[in-house]
Amino acid sequence: MSAPFRNPAVEAFVSSFGPEKVLAQVLIQRLEIGFELRNVADRNVSQLRIVPVPGLRSLAQVTEAGDFRPLKSAPTLQKGWRAHATTAAELELALNSLYPGAIADWFAVRNSRAHVTNYREFTNRQTGMYRITQMLTDAQASQTISCCCDATFCLKRRCWTVESLMPDAEQEKSEIPCLEPCALLMESARKTVRLEQADKTGQK
Ligand code: SF4
Repeated sequence: MSAPFRNPAVEAFVSSFGPEKVLAQVLIQRLEIGFELRNVADRNVSQLRIVPVPGLRSLAQVTEAGDFRPLKSAPTLQKGWRAHATTAAELELALNSLYPGAIADWFAVRNSRAHVTNYREFTNRQTGMYRITQMLTDAQASQTISCCCDATFCLKRRCWTVESLMPDAEQEKSEIPCLEPCALLMESARKTVRLEQADKTGQK
């Protein structure tokens, strides 16, 4: 019988911490068998509903108020639950449900294998409705990025930049890297250009 596949990214992640680790809003604690996950804000809460690992994907879809979460790295992860991942593979599934791609990106950055795509490189290859995002000046792009990627909206650490804007510091956000502009950032940049154009033509 062949040995089960072991994901090197997950293995490295699991070896990177001791009894516990906080990843964005998730507290991961080692148990005798496996790991327990919960919202870090629930660290000292004893009455939490148990969510099976496969149920974390739907939990991450909505806020406590039931609103859709278009950005899984937004600091709006529900509280009041805990999940038990019995193996590293289950931990991978759990974290991929809460923060899709986070462990793979974390591993790539750690091994200096991550490809970071800065704003200009990313927007220069856009076609269709997002092509106009190339028109933002560095100052406008900087302002849009600073607003959209602020820690109050997103806990991913932005590794990419535009001229004159520093990448995010890990301690201000989390260890989850952001390697290129996301769809929400692009939509925000597109709207900024549209508003600029409307201002210039005097439209509302
Ligand atoms: S582009 Fe900004 S808002 Fe989007 S995931 Fe990256 S850091 Fe978060």
